[in-house]
Amino acid sequence: MIYTRKNKRELRYVWSSKTILLRHSYIHSHILRTLSSVLYHLYFSTSKRHSIIVSKTFTQFLIETITQLESNLKVLNIPLFIYTGDSGAHISQLIKEHEIDTVYLQKEWTRDENNILANVKAGIPSTIAFEETLDQFLFHPEDIPYPNFNAIPEVFTNFRKKCEKQISVLPCIRIDKILPKENLLKTNTEIPTLSHLNLEEFNTDTRSAFPFHGGENEALKRITHYFWETKKLAFYKKTRNGLVGNDYSSKLSPWLANGSISARTIYWEVKRFEKEVKKNQDTYWLIFELIWRDYFKYVSLKHQNSIFKIGGILDKEYDWHTTKIARKEWINGSTREPFVNANMKELANTGWMSNRGRQNVASFWAKELKQDWRIGAAYFESMLLDYDVHSNWGNWMYNSGVGNDPRDRKFNIARQADMYDGQGKFQRLWLQDSLF
Ligand SMILES: Cc1cc2nc3c(=O)[nH]c(=O)nc-3n(C[C@H](O)[C@H](O)[C@H](O)COP(=O)(O)OP(=O)(O)OC[C@H]3O[C@@H](n4cnc5c(N)ncnc54)[C@H](O)[C@@H]3O)c2cc1C
Repeated sequence: MIYTRKNKRELRYVWSSKTILLRHSYIHSHILRTLSSVLYHLYFSTSKRHSIIVSKTFTQFLIETITQLESNLKVLNIPLFIYTGDSGAHISQLIKEHEIDTVYLQKEWTRDENNILANVKAGIPSTIAFEETLDQFLFHPEDIPYPNFNAIPEVFTNFRKKCEKQISVLPCIRIDKILPKENLLKTNTEIPTLSHLNLEEFNTDTRSAFPFHGGENEALKRITHYFWETKKLAFYKKTRNGLVGNDYSSKLSPWLANGSISARTIYWEVKRFEKEVKKNQDTYWLIFELIWRDYFKYVSLKHQNSIFKIGGILDKEYDWHTTKIARKEWINGSTREPFVNANMKELANTGWMSNRGRQNVASFWAKELKQDWRIGAAYFESMLLDYDVHSNWGNWMYNSGVGNDPRDRKFNIARQADMYDGQGKFQRLWLQDSLF
């Protein structure tokens, strides 16, 4: 996989709104190890496949992420070209201007991402090589104990147990090679602001369970806090169903989703914690959840675009409704269920919702109201700070009875509220205004 041509620049095109795993990705370490001249390109996109709304909280997190990425790359003398709008046009211009012969990118497989790449390729000479790498997993796709993606089991436990037994997670490679100064070209591009993008400036909601900022350094800071300073990791399984506060769970998902940190980095940090501080069910459980993340990626590799179809991967037929008023009430948090309402208000105001909340509002939408589950998934896609195509659509299918839940469970919302918010603290936090 070496494409170096002396004195030629190589372009690493960073895909869509995803940023890069700066120090830990295979592509990045490979490029830095083998090439002497590199430029990075980022297509700044806030629009997502099924988005109903462009979220200002999501966009702000992305702006912060890219700001940090730009300055971290600068230290390595790597320029970051940032464009909004049509990525195809910008790429072909960059390729011409800088005599690029190879484009490196993370391999994506879902429909819209494939279409974007096809459009990009159509606009540039066929002599330009494209190097795509599957680079977002805990268990590397070449290591999984299955002959092909079609053999991925439909039940998570089967997948987890076999992988845990047979695969070693790859080590993290940290390369801090600094390129020559001449590599740091002037880009003449700028990171957009919220107002450039016609979004209003805002202050983070003081009630937010995710008051953090975007960027690799912030992700590492969060690990330092959650693992090493407070040792909350040692209690993770006991607290992970929480609803209020910053530390009931790791809160690493928004950084994971945009590539600021990798699942492998987190895995090896857990392992170090287990060696140096404590190893218990709680520490293991964070890895268990990271395996869920991988699982949904493999499910989507297996079933491809079926994850967006109404029958899901089971091709199930239900009598789905698309009632406008139900959608409005669910989104605004004015349904008959206060627990659902509190969670939906939290999402609208902060871009965050706990895992417990997500399961409940999804079950209520799809199984209680029997509304087309894809509308719910699309709304989450618009709003979530940690939106990840595979985790979102995979979990939505799971909770809507068209995915990988062998038990096809429906949540009793009132009972869930009693169990997880018995004192009503969470509901008061988000519903106070509407109560008085
Ligand atoms: C309907 C629905 C939609 C969801 N959409 C997304 C999404 O778009 N993006 C996303 O990252 N997660 C999604 N999740 C999964 C989960 O809710 C979040 O990953 C989790 O709440 C993030 O908080 P945390 O980082 O504190 O997680 P922790 O509890 O600290 O877990 C650590 C990591 O494990 C992974 N993880 C945990 N639970 C799950 C899960 N159920 N599925 C997949 N990975 C998991 C995440 O990467 C998470 O950061 C969704 C869940 C549901 C029920």
